[in-house]
Formats: sequence, structure tokens, C-alpha cells
Amino acid sequence: MTQQAMRVLITGGAGFIGSHLAEAHLEKGDEVYIIDDLSTGSLENIKALQKNEHFGNRLFVTVDSILNHQKMLELVGICHQVYHLAAAVGVLYVLDHPFESIRTNIQGTEKVLELSNKFKKRVLIASSSEVYGKHEHSPLVETDNLVYGPSTKFRWSYAASKLMDEFMALAYHRTNRLEVVIARLFNTVGPRQTGAYGMVIPRLVGQALRGEPLTVYGDGKQTRTFTYVKDVVEALMGLMASPEATGKVLNVGGTEEISIEALAKKIIAMTGTKSNLQCVPYEVAFEKDFEDMRRRVPSIQKIKDCIGFEPKTDLDEMLRHVISSMSPLGKSPSR
Ligand code: UDP
Repeated sequence: MTQQAMRVLITGGAGFIGSHLAEAHLEKGDEVYIIDDLSTGSLENIKALQKNEHFGNRLFVTVDSILNHQKMLELVGICHQVYHLAAAVGVLYVLDHPFESIRTNIQGTEKVLELSNKFKKRVLIASSSEVYGKHEHSPLVETDNLVYGPSTKFRWSYAASKLMDEFMALAYHRTNRLEVVIARLFNTVGPRQTGAYGMVIPRLVGQALRGEPLTVYGDGKQTRTFTYVKDVVEALMGLMASPEATGKVLNVGGTEEISIEALAKKIIAMTGTKSNLQCVPYEVAFEKDFEDMRRRVPSIQKIKDCIGFEPKTDLDEMLRHVISSMSPLGKSPSR
């Protein structure tokens, strides 16, 4: 390790965002400790890091649950900083695994915070734009009220559990002066993200590359902004390193708003596929009474003021990276 090198713990480090964060810390010269139960993460995501001759001896992987007290005691104890990314991910996963999602998000975060507090380790909690609920105004600001549907609609359990994580983290900060930072991540995309749990870009790109219809849910007029995973990693590392960010809740997201219908058309053009759009009603894609967010655009003023963060990668470039990483021969998209 170089002099300023750190030992960082990444819960969920074999997941999509966690594996990119691990890579960035390894590139920086740090030692990286990962704990992941592989519920939605995969060792495939970190295989290249483990094989890399410069990284391999600085990467330590534990396949276990963050609810394993003894393991977490050891890991939090030896690391300088904790990134807590282990969580239920994806709308489909949350609807299919309601218990696991709530348990991981609530009890898992409680464990991470309890031990970070015991050893007084700085901890970054990955929260989610889901916490905002069903607003339609733009942009979403960290001080906005949060608007949820009834508890019979299970999507909101995810928002509510992430909100509890935020409250717990803020309570530790307020009561115990624990150094916490809460990052509300908006839709993140990039290589290694799986479409298996609902994420729209890998799903639509996969469908386009296989020549299948691109499934656009609802009327396709709902909008999102996407952030490239490398930009998100830069933001997370910046927040971890900034004393200014301590005790704060900050949006991490992009600013380029696009409807899902327009996104699907863009993917069709960029892949050169012969596939068409296929509109799928929500009740067919999910379940009766499913509620989607019509619009989700973050204000990124707060993180800009705090650490000077602005996303660098535009949507076309993100899509080019995703398409080439998912193409069977790794070939480049048509434009
Ligand atoms: N979506 C879609 N087709 C798909 C997957 C998702 O039209 O095959 C829509 C989904 O209904 C939502 C948007 O794409 O409006 C983003 O979905 P995702 O699950 O990626 O993230 P969310 O923002 O809903 O958490």
C-alpha cells in the first residue's frame, strides 16, 4: 500500500455498482474488502479484478451475508471506511422477494451502522431515488416531501425500507457523531448491470441484440435520467473523501431526461436491430395495481456545491458502452 492507501470495505461489492467501485479503489492503490451474499451480485463481476496481477493481492472477498455479525465485526474492524451498497435491487426482485428485500435493507443497514459506530468508521449509505416516491415535478430536491402509495402496493416497501436506512444513519450521526453520508442514487447504468431484475437499459439492449421486441411498459411516456456507473463511482468516492458531505443526504444522478419510448427507439437505431417496440401493460409486466414513477429527474445542485460533481458521460456514450459490452463479439454499435 502507498502511504495514503486505505482499506475500504464494500458491502455488495460483487454487484454492479460495487464491482466498479472496487475497481476504482484498487486502481488508486487501496486494499479492498468485499462482502457479498451473491443474491443479486455475482463473482463473475469481480473475476477480472481477482485475476489482475496488480490488484489480486489487494482484493479480499467474503461470500456471506451482512447479517453475519462475526464476519462483519472483523471486516468493519480492519477497514478504514465502509461503503454500504448491499441491498435488494430492481423492481422485479423487490416484488418477487418482499421479505428478503425488507430484511436486507433494514436489518443489514442496522448491522452496518451498529458496527461502523462501534469502531467509529466513516460510512457511506447507498440510498435510492425510490425514496422520493411518486412525484412528477422536476427536479427532485433532497428537501422535498416524500409521497408514497398504500402499503398494499409492494413497490413502496422498497422506498420505505431505504427511507428507514436514511433515518437510522442520520440518527447515528446526530446521536453518536458517527460520520455518515447518504447518497440517493438515480438510475445507474453501465457494463455488468443485469436486466434480470427489471433494469430497463440492459433489458432493452439485450432484446435488441437478440432480435426480440423491445418491451416498453405502460404508455412509454414515463421518463428517467440515467447516470453512467463510472460517474457514480467518482461521486461516491468524492463524497467519502469530503468532510463537507458528512451528515448529508445528496442526490447522485444525471440531468438528461428521456422517455422510455424514446430510449427504446434510440436503442433500436444504435444497435441496427430489426426489432420493434412492444407496448406491455403494467399489469402484464408486474402485478395488478402496480404504480410506476412517471418522471424522475434529480437536482444535482447540492452534490455540485459539496464536491463539484457533475456527470461527464452522456446517454449516447452510456448506451455505446452497454451495447458493446453486451454484444456477443464485443462489436461496436452502429453509431
Ligand atoms: N421499463 C420498461 N421496459 C422494461 C423494463 C422497464 O418500459 O423492460 C420501464 C419501467 O416501467 C420504468 C423505467 O423503464 O418506467 C425504468 O425502469 P427500471 O426498472 O430500470 O428502473 P426504475 O426507475 O423503475 O427503478
